[in-house]
Amino acid sequence: MDKKKILILPGDGIGPEAIDEVKKIIDFLNKKKTINIEIEEELVGGACIDKFKVPVKDETIKKAKKKDAILLGAVGGPKWDNLPFDERPEQGLLRLRSDLKLFANLRPAISFDSLIHASSLKSEIIKGLDILIVRELTGGVYFGEPRGIEDLGNGKRRGLNTQVYSTDEIIRVAKVAFELAKKRKKILTSVEKSNVMESGKLWREEVKKLGKSEYSDIDLNHMYADNCAMQLIRDPKQFDIILTDNLFGDILSDAAAMLTGSLGMLPSASLSGVKNGSYLSGLYEPVHGSAPDIAGKNIANPIATILSFSMMLFYSFDNHKLSQIIDNSVKTVLNKGFRTEDIMDKKSQKVGTKQMGDLIIEEITKNI
Ligand code: NAD
Repeated sequence: MDKKKILILPGDGIGPEAIDEVKKIIDFLNKKKTINIEIEEELVGGACIDKFKVPVKDETIKKAKKKDAILLGAVGGPKWDNLPFDERPEQGLLRLRSDLKLFANLRPAISFDSLIHASSLKSEIIKGLDILIVRELTGGVYFGEPRGIEDLGNGKRRGLNTQVYSTDEIIRVAKVAFELAKKRKKILTSVEKSNVMESGKLWREEVKKLGKSEYSDIDLNHMYADNCAMQLIRDPKQFDIILTDNLFGDILSDAAAMLTGSLGMLPSASLSGVKNGSYLSGLYEPVHGSAPDIAGKNIANPIATILSFSMMLFYSFDNHKLSQIIDNSVKTVLNKGFRTEDIMDKKSQKVGTKQMGDLIIEEITKNI
């Protein structure tokens, strides 16, 4: 069995607690010889600032580049909130994303039948929902120059950001989305504002050209971002994969995620491209933050982090079978009525972080 080397960055708050549950799963699967994963661990975020005065060490970035994949918990917390912007824990994460060129962010929104009532939408609208948002992560208005706040004199100021995309930036993320579409329902919706933005017009033209030349088997549609926001709430099941830029992706993926109800359930992957159908280096992390309000109490939901590990198995290690077993084990535990506090309802049995991890391992055992 191929040995895979991964870097684990537990981070702050509930990050380490949730990561502990994944480490238990990896340890269990290694012992069963179902996988052969070697773990190395490093500090990131506030924990790294406390010890080394930086949110991530250069050495950690170098290490990360050499690994087969990276799993991150979460970073941040009130302790570091007063630091200058460029010294804060979040910078560690941003640096990892940009140094590893993780330009494609994948966020699935999957509805679990047993949690259907946690959604604010009607059950029939979200039952069976399984969509994937592919968001461009390292370009667009969050990085475009010029940017800043200018002093106009007379006590007035002007804030400026630049939305900019090049052909290469559009094509590389579009390729990831098209390749994913091949493995799913072969439907792709590309989202921009080509009616009012030049960068959106270019986005649409380049995606259309790529679709025609290399992916004619994929059913490609185009939609304006405002309409997409509306359609996500009206009829989300019309989508399979949504491809979009950094800004629209930020907003649409949060909206799509909340269709399913709980932050503690949402995994994500950030990838640096695709070559011959295989995905290049990836960072996997839950969508939620470090939840300082519940840290250290053994009540955090570890499922988003566990599902992030499952995405790692799927995308970085091509181990679809094991990824499916983990996803199904999570579903079974929920179907049996076990819940952490964040997804609790009157009929269910409340469990802590550690017990949720144990229950999921128990189900995995039955299926490997
Ligand atoms: P958050 O996601 O940490 O928490 C929002 C709410 O959801 C809180 O009430 C929290 O208790 C709850 N929650 C989140 N994850 C949960 C889980 N797994 N189980 C149970 N409940 C959960 O967002 P926030 O409060 O806005 O931010 C807290 C800190 O996290 C800030 O410092 C922020 O900058 C940071 N943050 C980090 C990341 C990241 O590391 N990727 C993402 C978002 C926020």
